[in-house]
Amino acid sequence: MTLFRLLTEGTHALERAKAPDAKQDARQLLLAAFHLDMVHFLMNRMQELEENRHNQMSIKLYWEMIDRRCRRCPLQQILGNQEFMGLEFYVNRHVLIPRQDTETLVELVLADMEHRRNGERLVENALLDLCTGSGCIAISLAARGGFQKITITDISKEALKVAERNIRTLLPNWLLSRGEIPWREMFNITEKMVEILQGDLFAALWEDSRKYDVITANPPYIPTAMISVLEPEVREHEPLLALDGAEDGLRYYKRIAAAAGGYLKPGGRIYLEIGFDQGGKVGKLLEFAGYEKIVVHKDLAGKDRVVVAVWPGSEEGWKENQKKLV
Ligand code: GLN
Repeated sequence: MTLFRLLTEGTHALERAKAPDAKQDARQLLLAAFHLDMVHFLMNRMQELEENRHNQMSIKLYWEMIDRRCRRCPLQQILGNQEFMGLEFYVNRHVLIPRQDTETLVELVLADMEHRRNGERLVENALLDLCTGSGCIAISLAARGGFQKITITDISKEALKVAERNIRTLLPNWLLSRGEIPWREMFNITEKMVEILQGDLFAALWEDSRKYDVITANPPYIPTAMISVLEPEVREHEPLLALDGAEDGLRYYKRIAAAAGGYLKPGGRIYLEIGFDQGGKVGKLLEFAGYEKIVVHKDLAGKDRVVVAVWPGSEEGWKENQKKLV
């Protein structure tokens, strides 16, 4: 048996199962099962594999992985990771796999921070990321160095375990808290901390009166009737809880728009990922709730993807407050 033969047979198995990208996926799974990089694969692919325990185990693992992919389990769940904003996030079936579309949201927050600072040493103090899932939005923003504190919330305990694991590997210098330490004491502990809270949107924050500079969310937004026409990878393997936005797909935007103002500082911003046809409706919901400067931004494919809005209050006042914190 050779690596090349395994690759060919695996590719055929995937093709028979009508899984897309058969050859690329078979190659990635082979490399993962044998802990090989591309160079070593190319050098050794025609050599007869030695009959040792390591190779036997790797072949067994490879066929198990191919089998899962034949059943349309997403490649990222089989490999256990997905790259997002240049970072490698751990993922499993309890979280939505980070999408490139969502990088648009992160890049908008980063660009606004740059713009708002305009060369000044301002500190974006606090970020709240709702429906955090794998934590990809909050963690990549934190890793870029902009925030002093981040709070992440999700209704799913299992999702928060994934986010916590990503925080530990990707933000090793940040202190973790599960909300048991009162907020004011946290200020004395460290300047860089991330708080993990479980609960349904703002319910995770209890009757807390703290305010945030930025709120981000990629809530479930697929209309229920559309779920059945999604790809099997999404429909059958990604968490429904992270996808289903109820009848019109807008359930969570309505709740977020109604409540988020109470958690934003004057001049604070909210960034919501949306479905391609939801820009107008989500914009209206935010307008109705009293937000200003509502802008719908497009993703790289040219589709509406992110709505940004500002909670009323003076930008100057916001800047003065931030300077005091430096
Ligand atoms: N964009 C995701 C998809 O295409 C859905 C994300 C969401 O509902 N938040 O499946």
